[in-house]
Order: sequence, then structure tokens, then C-alpha cells
Amino acid sequence: MPADGKLKGKREVFTMANEENQTQAAPQTPQTPPLGICERCKNPIYRKEDLVIHHYNLRSSRQYYHCAQCEAKMKEENARQAAATAAKRRMWSYILGGLGAAVVLAIMIATGIFKTPSLIAVGVVTPILTFTLISCLLLSNNFVGDLIVGIASRSIRMPGVIFGLSLDGIVWFLTVKLGLLVLSILISIALLLLAVAVGLVVSVFVYPFALVKSIKHPDDDN
Ligand SMILES: [Zn+2]
Repeated sequence: MPADGKLKGKREVFTMANEENQTQAAPQTPQTPPLGICERCKNPIYRKEDLVIHHYNLRSSRQYYHCAQCEAKMKEENARQAAATAAKRRMWSYILGGLGAAVVLAIMIATGIFKTPSLIAVGVVTPILTFTLISCLLLSNNFVGDLIVGIASRSIRMPGVIFGLSLDGIVWFLTVKLGLLVLSILISIALLLLAVAVGLVVSVFVYPFALVKSIKHPDDDN
């Protein structure tokens, strides 16, 4: 039964295409060769406005064709898929963002921050920022993730160590080397904390746009 329906559908497409073709190409020679074969439905494409040219990849000049119907169908499928992916990301952003905010709020309460009037604002704002940061990262349609990675992965060049070839010189070299290693680890941690802090602050401004974009333009990744 399904195979029958499919066949029938295909035959209808064929007859429709032929009719259209005849009315279009009636004054010309009827046996014009097709401009291309549709990659999806394998039907020949005769009219220029029905021919959609694709390249296999950006660098390749090799082409394939879609008929207008298949192109529209493919775009619709892609849009549906993008919308589904974006909806899933939003769901996780609500769940994990909310969870993260709850954990931070619990920590804030545990540290007694709400007992100090001047710090109450910090206690309220930090969980909110946690929610927006986690959400921005999970929606992944904004620059917040790249910003954090960019700051955290900034490397600091340690100075070279000059030393004499005596025992004292080698001990001094190892001591300074070790010191520089500890220093660079501390700097890395500080950079990571700075990156997260910047991410927290920036995310609260980016989040509303990221959320709207996720709903209205789910196929836009950047
Ligand atoms: Zn087609």
C-alpha cells in the first residue's frame, strides 16, 4: 500500500512536469535535453527556474542539482531539524541553568551572605548570572563561549633562565624553574577565574538576544 501510494505520487509528479514542460516548450523543439537531473528525486529538470545548483563543498567546482520542489522540501526539513535542535538546547539551558543557579544560591546561603546587608545584592545577582552564563553556553548561538575560551587560553611567556654550570647554578636554575612553573599555574587559574567572571557579566546582556535568536532563527549558529 505505501509503495503503491509512492509510485502514484511519483507518476503524478512526472505527468505534472511533462504537462508544464509541454506548455512551456511548445513553441520550441519538444526534445530539449534536460538541464540536469535532480539528486534527490532523480527526475530530469528542464526549466532554468527549476534548477538549483549546489556544490559538493566550498572548494570543489563539482556540482549537483536539485529540482525546485526537492530544494523547497530540503529547506523545510533543515529548518524543522534546526528548530528541534534549538528547542532541545533551550530545554537543557532551562534545566541546567536553573540547577546551576540553585547550587550557587545554596552556596550563597551557606556562606551567610544574606546576613550581611551590603552583600545581599551579590547573593541575588550571582545565581542569576550563573543561569544566564550556563544558558548562553548551552544555546551556543552566541559569542560567550568563545570569549571565555579566548581569555582562559591566553598564555603568558615565562622569561628564560640564565644559569652557570656550577652546582649552585643548577640548584638555582631548578628553583627558579619550579617557581616559574607554580607562577604560571597560578596565572592560568587566575585567567580562568577572570574568564568565568567576564563570562558571567557579559552573559546577562547576551542571554535575552540568544534566547530570542534561538526561537526565531534556530538555524543561525553564530
Ligand atoms: Zn527533485
